[in-house]
Formats: sequence, structure tokens, C-alpha cells
Amino acid sequence: MKFFIRLLALCLFSSGYLPSLVYAETIYPNTSTSEHKSTNAQKLSEILTPDEQAWLKNNPSIRVAVKSGWMPVEFKLESGEHRGVSIDYLSMLADLLQVSFVIVDYIDNIAPTDADIISGVSNRTLKNTKFNLLNMSFVDFPLAIYRNKYLDKQPKILALEDLSGARVAIYKSGYIGEKIHENHPDIKLVHVDIADEAFEKLEAGAVEAYIGSEIVVDYHIVFNRLNFAQKAGLTPFTSSVSMAVRADRTLLASILEKSLLIVEPNNKKILEKWVIKDSRSNPFITAALVFVALILVLGLFRFYRLKQAIKKKDSESQQKIWYQANFDFLTKLPNRHLLHNRLEEALIKADASKLLVGLLYIDLDNFKSVNDQSGHNVGDKLLIEAAQRISLCVNPSDTTARIGGDEFMVVMEELKDFRSLEEACQKILIELEKPFLIDANVFYISSSIGVTVYPEDSNNTKELLVYADQAMYEAKKLGRNRYQFFTQSMQTLSSYKLSIAQDLRAAINTDQFIMHYQPILNFNDSSITKAEALIRWNHPKKGIINPADFIPIAEECGLIDVLGQWAFNQALKDLLIIRQRLGADFQLSINVSPYQFHYPERLLNWIQDINSLGVPGSCICIEITEGLLLDASNIVLNTLSALQNVGIELSIDDFGTGYSALAYLKKFDVNYVKIDKSFIQNLAPQNYDAVLCEAIIQMAQKLGIKIIAEGIETDVQNSLLNQFKCDYGQGFLFAKPTTLDLLLELLDEPKKLFV
Ligand code: C2E
Ligand code: CA
Ligand code: CA
Repeated sequence: MKFFIRLLALCLFSSGYLPSLVYAETIYPNTSTSEHKSTNAQKLSEILTPDEQAWLKNNPSIRVAVKSGWMPVEFKLESGEHRGVSIDYLSMLADLLQVSFVIVDYIDNIAPTDADIISGVSNRTLKNTKFNLLNMSFVDFPLAIYRNKYLDKQPKILALEDLSGARVAIYKSGYIGEKIHENHPDIKLVHVDIADEAFEKLEAGAVEAYIGSEIVVDYHIVFNRLNFAQKAGLTPFTSSVSMAVRADRTLLASILEKSLLIVEPNNKKILEKWVIKDSRSNPFITAALVFVALILVLGLFRFYRLKQAIKKKDSESQQKIWYQANFDFLTKLPNRHLLHNRLEEALIKADASKLLVGLLYIDLDNFKSVNDQSGHNVGDKLLIEAAQRISLCVNPSDTTARIGGDEFMVVMEELKDFRSLEEACQKILIELEKPFLIDANVFYISSSIGVTVYPEDSNNTKELLVYADQAMYEAKKLGRNRYQFFTQSMQTLSSYKLSIAQDLRAAINTDQFIMHYQPILNFNDSSITKAEALIRWNHPKKGIINPADFIPIAEECGLIDVLGQWAFNQALKDLLIIRQRLGADFQLSINVSPYQFHYPERLLNWIQDINSLGVPGSCICIEITEGLLLDASNIVLNTLSALQNVGIELSIDDFGTGYSALAYLKKFDVNYVKIDKSFIQNLAPQNYDAVLCEAIIQMAQKLGIKIIAEGIETDVQNSLLNQFKCDYGQGFLFAKPTTLDLLLELLDEPKKLFV
């Protein structure tokens, strides 16, 4: 079994899978400031160079590889938490540098892509050339001499000089052995692999003494209840523990060296906590200490006692944990975490080979409706099949990962040019467009792919991941079932969006919105009994911003429901004023975004708001787009019908730009269809748009749906629409959207509309 696991580990390792990357714990900086801390921060800012300070700002999270069984330097409790001297140092450093340390489990030959730092390295044992040992250690343990007190009943204080001619056990690798040999060539050194072996020899009388790191060996004695072992003295030598830093992170290395100066090596506060007090001469204290220590670290003790028995199981479960941390359980593809690692590795390799790396972000179109309509079981099967199809479109050495829901990413390596990337995208589009046969049913989906390229677009993994996402989003916007390469303008646009999104949040709280109303003319009698509510944003710096520039952003960042609620409240308030002034019924149309149906409770509350003001429901019309009805879930349908039940009317906005099926719309009891302004603007006698408009009007009337033409700007358009017997018209020809006051004036004197 052991052999098998080793073999597996070897295969995983050589195929690029890096084992044992389990994110167990993060050490966060403490943000509260004490006087002591702020003087340290002050000292630090004086000794760090601007480059080092900038590095820290850009790297707020640093990965540290920590060993799990080296008590009390660093070890892992059964609960998975890490403890020990180096953990205490890390948490002091986290406070000082205001960074977080993400702990990863240490493995031999750990790769630089897995960790930035190895936290506990005893001097001269570092064999991994990709990491450099710091020049400074954080703790120096004296080397102590241990003997078997039962073999020589006279307690003795021993020094190295007393061991002349004696057999002494010592850890086989490490420079201490060499030092002792140089200075005391008459000591017979017996090399051992681990402390257990040394104590076996000591117990059996095969050696007279054992020399090891004081604190570490003291722990070993306490936890293994080695009653025969006794610390007999100290040597002049110490063994130092330091950190090793990724060879290419030179700034980090110098930051750590400077910070260790501030938090001080061999920090008393830390060591006091971990050192087991000398109790050689007092068996009572030893017993008490053992007892307390055992109680304190009970879990750990159990762990040690069962160590042998669970060793095998442990490595199996380590493998399992590692698998779970790196792979998606459904599709068995690498997950987001492993993808990030692979991407980082790919960039390092690409630097050496001077080839390109492509990153694909694939999002399935329409997956949600398959999942909603046919259930998760079918959805899961479709995802598994999609995962296989995608993997087959790229080289086996490329990484295909599932990063969540219906989203996949591919890292394509060793590319000479963009052609192979484009070919892969095309293949993926074609493969995913093919029907999916699941449980004897056929399903159709498609996909949208965003592509970014290293080093063309960026040389930073984080940015590449964001760019691929932005490019994918663009592919969706351009109509789905396509791929799109990242361009710098997407990034500019997205930072613009980000700043608008931030301002939007503030605007909602500080009343920066205004509602305008655009009258809707009844062609039959030229009366005005309707208007459309159109929101405007009075930005303190940018002036008036049109809704087309901020509604989509509000939709994206989840602010639309609050904004939509504001629009409804304002319109309802103004409706009361209009009704009072006219003494007659008047209808306001309110635009409702499909995203607002994600919060149906808010929309359903409108019913109460209307009722409590005593306004008939028919005074409100909501304008939605066809798309909402096309993929309508039960939530959408139920919400709409609840609103319709209290008399609220329904209008389909921008008709003609989408699916455009009138008969289908009738099913939803639609009252109005607004022909999109793009058709109206092209109207000329007998042209295609004129024929289309006339046909729509005639058909709608047969179905009992009224037509509103929007965007009427010219007399020609107006007279053609009258000729076609259109019901209502809206446009700059009659009136632009205006404030409530101006609307009221217009309603008092409708003739003003036509001047
Ligand atoms: P929409 O619902 O299609 O609104 C009609 C748009 O056409 C308005 O643009 C209006 O000012 C403009 N318009 C009216 N007559 C003419 C004309 O003769 N010629 C031309 N070229 N344009 C005309 P606006 O106010 O910029 O609104 C843009 C879009 O923003 C609206 O399109 C609507 O989708 C959205 N919107 C506006 N207010 C709200 C709101 O409160 N909530 C939501 N969810 N969306 C809103
Ligand atoms: Ca509208
Ligand atoms: Ca419209």
C-alpha cells in the first residue's frame, strides 16, 4: 500500500499535479493598534525601502508551508490547526506587516508555486534550491545532552568533555555532528534518523548519551513518557531555525529579515510559552508538568500515541483531502484552486520557453433553463458531458478545470501563435452546440468563451483571470455562442463601470435621482392619459447621466432592486399629484428590469403600497422586455399575475428587437406592445419597416393588444402610424421626457405639446 501511495504521489508529481496543497488556516493581521505596535510599525516604515513597501501592498496574502509534526516548532493539532513557535512568529509578523499568511502543508521538494515561504527550516538542512534560507534565524535552540538515568543512578551534570570515549547518538544529517567531531574527535558518534531511534538506543544502553535540540527533545520526552531519559547538560552549540523564501522573491526575503529584527529572534514572550522548564532534579515537578501538558494538549497526545497505527490511514486521508482540495467532485476535473496553480506554473514555464499561454473562460449559455426545467440530476449529467467535450478539444497536457456552476476554464500551454487558440475555441463552440442526449431526452445549449493570452495581455495570474472573465462577458453581450479575445478597452470599460458602481451606491443614499415623465399620446382623440417614468441621475461631478449608462451597471452589481424601488416610490408619489391635479385617471408606466424579479417580495409589496393609497391598480403599467417572458420561471409568472390581479397593466417594451411573437405574448395577458424606436425611426412610405409596423399593428389589434409606437420624431413617421391605426405614440415630436412640473403644465394645456 505504502509503495502504491508513493507511486501515485510520484505519478501525480511528475505529471504536474502538486500534492498536499491543503489550505488549512490563515493567520490574519490584527488590525487594532496598541502603542507598542505602532512604534513597531513606525520602525518598519523607516527601514523598508519604497519597493519593499509597494511589494507588501500588492501582496496582502502570503503562502507559508508549515510542517505538521515538529513539536514545538510547528505542528498540527487533530483539529487541523497549526501551533508552535513559528506560528507565533508568523502571527507577530502578520500584525507587523499587516499581511495574511495562508498556511499550506509542507511537503518535501515543495514547489515555489505552492508557497512563498517555508516557515521552519533548521540550519543547513534546506535542500530545495528554489528557496533561499534567510540570513537570520528566528530561534536558536541549545543542543542538550540526554542520558539514561537508570543505567547510571548518580545524577550527573554532563558537558561534552565528559563524553570522551562514549558512544553518543546524533541526528545523521546536519552540521552539528561535524562540529562535535571536529572539536571532540574522541566521542564516538552514532548517527540516527529520528529521535525515537536515539532513545531506543539510549534505553538499551547502546549509547551513553544523545545530543539533540533542547526544546524539541524535551517535548519528545514528555509526550512519549520516556521516564529513563534525563537532560544532563548543555553543549556550546545551538541549532537555528529560520525561514526560507522563494528564490525569486528577493524583496520578501529582505522584508522578512528586517521584520525579524523588529520582532526579535528568540523572542522571550514566545519562547516562554513553549519551553518546558528544567525539572531534572525534581520528579514531582516533572510529574506535575507532564500532567498539565498532557491535559493541555490532550488531542495532540492521542495523536502521538496512535501515530503508528494511523500512519497508513493518515497518508490515505491526506491523499483524499488533497484530492478534494484540488478536484471538482462532479466532473472530476481540476477545480479553481488547482487551475490557479497550474496557471502559475504555466507562466513560469512559458518564461523559459518564450511561448504563449492561453486562458479560456467558458460559460455555458442556457444551462440555467435546462437545470431549472429538467432538474439538477439532468443538469449534473449535462455538466459531466460538457466537461468531457471541452477536455477533448484541447491537448491532454492542457488543464481543463471546472471553476463553478456552469463555468469552465482551460489553460492552454506552449502556444506559438493565436491560431491554435482560435481553433480550440471554435472546436469547443461546435462541440457544445451539438445536442446532449440525457436520459433519452435531447437538450441544446451553446457556450460563450473569453480568451486572454500571456504575456500579451498581462503577466500576472490574477489579472489574466479577471481579463478572461471580462472577455467572456463581452462574448455573452455580443450574442453568445461565440468567443472573444480580451482587449484593453474592456479593461478601461470595466474600471469605468467600477467607479460608476461605487458612485451609484452613494447616490442611492443621497437622493441624487430625479424622475422624468414622457407623455404618451392617444392617437384616437389626441388626449394624454399616460406617461412613461424615466429615471435620471444627477451626478455631483458628472452632471445628468442617462439611464442607459447606469441601469445596466446597477443590474450587474445588484443595485437595481433598490433603484427600481426608488423609481416605483417616486412614480407613485407623483401619480397622486397628477391625479389630484387632473381629477381624472392617469396611467404611469414604470420600467421594470428582469433582475428585479430576483427579488419578487419587493414587487409584490407594490400591491400593498397601491392599495394603501387608494390608487386603482390600472393607474400603473409595468414595462418589461420579451426576454423575461421567454425564459420565465414560475416565480416570474406568479409575480406578474399577482400584479395583474390587482389591475396593474403589462406592456412589452422594445418590441421587435427580440423574439417578436405576438401570439405567444397574448398568453400572458399583455395589454400593450411598444414597437421599438429603431423601427419607427426608419419608417418611410412602403419601406420594409413600414410594412412590418403595419403588420404588427393589425395583428395586435386582432389579439386585443394595444400598440404604442415610441421614438416618433418626424411628421412622416407620425402620419404613417396614424394611417396604420396605431393606438398610441410617444416621442420627441410630441414631448421629451420632462420634470413633473413641466408635465403638469403640458397636461393643463395639451396644445403645448405640438409647438
Ligand atoms: P426605454 O424604456 O426604451 O425608454 C425610452 C427611451 O427612449 C428613453 O430613453 C427616452 O428618453 C427615449 N426617447 C423617447 N422619445 C424619443 C425620441 O423621439 N427619439 C429618441 N431618439 N429617443 C426617444 P432614456 O430615458 O434615456 O431611457 C433609456 C432606457 O433606460 C429606457 O429605455 C429604459 O430601458 C431604461 N430606464 C429608464 N428609466 C428606468 C427605470 O426607472 N427603471 C428601469 N429598470 N429602467 C429604466
Ligand atoms: Ca420603456
Ligand atoms: Ca423602449
